[in-house]
Amino acid sequence: MSTTTPHVLLFPIPMQGPVNCTLKLAELLCISNISVTVLNTEHIQRNLLLHTNVVSRFSRYTNFRFEAISDGLPEDHPRSAERFMEMFEGMKNVTVPAFRDMMVSGCFSSKSECPVTVIIPDASFSFALDVAEEIGIPLIYFETVSPCALWTYLCLPKLIEAGEVPFNGDDLDVPVKNVPGTEAFLRRRDLPDFYRRDNLTNHTMQIIMKEAQYVPRAHGVIINTFEELDASILVHLRNVCPNTYCIGPLHTLFKSRLSIEPKLEIQDPQSIVSNSLWEENRTCLSWLDKQPPKSVIYVSVGSLAMMTVDQFFEIWHGLVNSGKPFLMVKRPGSIIGDYDDNQVPKVLMDETKKRGFFAEWVPQEEVLAHSAIVGFFTHSGWNSTLESIVEKVPMICLPFYVDQQVNSRFVSEIWKIGIDIKDTNDRVIIEKAVNNLINLKRNDFIKSLNALAKSAAESITKDGSSFMDLNRLINDIKSIS
Ligand code: UDP
Repeated sequence: MSTTTPHVLLFPIPMQGPVNCTLKLAELLCISNISVTVLNTEHIQRNLLLHTNVVSRFSRYTNFRFEAISDGLPEDHPRSAERFMEMFEGMKNVTVPAFRDMMVSGCFSSKSECPVTVIIPDASFSFALDVAEEIGIPLIYFETVSPCALWTYLCLPKLIEAGEVPFNGDDLDVPVKNVPGTEAFLRRRDLPDFYRRDNLTNHTMQIIMKEAQYVPRAHGVIINTFEELDASILVHLRNVCPNTYCIGPLHTLFKSRLSIEPKLEIQDPQSIVSNSLWEENRTCLSWLDKQPPKSVIYVSVGSLAMMTVDQFFEIWHGLVNSGKPFLMVKRPGSIIGDYDDNQVPKVLMDETKKRGFFAEWVPQEEVLAHSAIVGFFTHSGWNSTLESIVEKVPMICLPFYVDQQVNSRFVSEIWKIGIDIKDTNDRVIIEKAVNNLINLKRNDFIKSLNALAKSAAESITKDGSSFMDLNRLINDIKSIS
């Protein structure tokens, strides 16, 4: 191989959503004749190998390699959201210096016979830009949270300067004035959860501050959105980060680009896309087949969020009381604390047997695309939000952390495709939200969803904005290499 072959090093933050997006981007780059190394933490890599076909899937690309790095935690550490800070500490103490050593010694370059020419790390990895600058390699950040959340991060210095953060007093309904473009609808409670802390020295705030300083310094930033969805935010964001590549919805752009790739001869694009870190329960699809069309509420809080036992029971009661069939993902470790099955009220058990289905993890894109699904009770993770928009499924949003609070505000107030019930924990509110979603508000939501889903589909066609931005990214990677 010649030394000018473009070679990208992708380095996702060790979480399901970013890893999934990174692997999709990796394949898109591979089919465009760019060499790719994906650097995962050893823990993520183990789970991928255990539950997916990534090895055989990627073996068809001779220009692809997986590499692994320690996350600094013992193997049996739960790596749960509750112990998030330990994950960041582990990375700071072990991963960051190891990454620098790897890059300075050129280990990825020698293994793949061509040097790394562009680094694409997660946007929260400020240390990667320091290393890139030290060794003189261009870096493009991959931002896997929503543009509206990224925008609130980039505005953090301004929010602090204006005295809006940390909050003064407990009133979360105070309007936020210093996130341009959102003045008419953003309240304190809609900012990412870590803005609620009363001191700025906490670790998450430090990470966000650094992200706000580092992301604008990169060669560019890749964002998983499409122009029409986030135009009102992108116009402001580009004042700070002029070079944005909006390549979303990445999961559909990925499917459509791979399906037309003659080199791959893909028969069934659906069968190849799992990047799940848990085993997918596919029997839920047969259960869905037996439900009436547009009847089932799908419930998931994603890969990180954790509910209290009390919260879980309120949701469960609310669903049962709504009288609708439901499919609920109960991810291992997603409930804080324990409960005894004998304590579960009989009515919940009986009604769930009749019209409920629990699974530990499901093939979500396929579930949302199923004709039996009528609504999505979601934590408002960004990937889940995009997947729901593409499949025109209205949402009930119960956000937990990171970008979820701001995403759910955009779902309800800007895109008008769902109901935001943030900061509540009440079976009556949940039952009412389910009924409103299915009856009273359904037509309005579907009208908005139809328009957004149409724009999403257009954005990934040959002349569409996301299709063209992906091409621009590919060309830029080749030209800066
Ligand atoms: N997901 C899945 N099966 C499940 C639950 C979630 O495949 O049972 C996928 C979902 O399709 C999405 C990702 O996990 O792509 C979750 O990402 P998101 O950004 O929505 O939330 P996070 O997990 O980062 O909080």
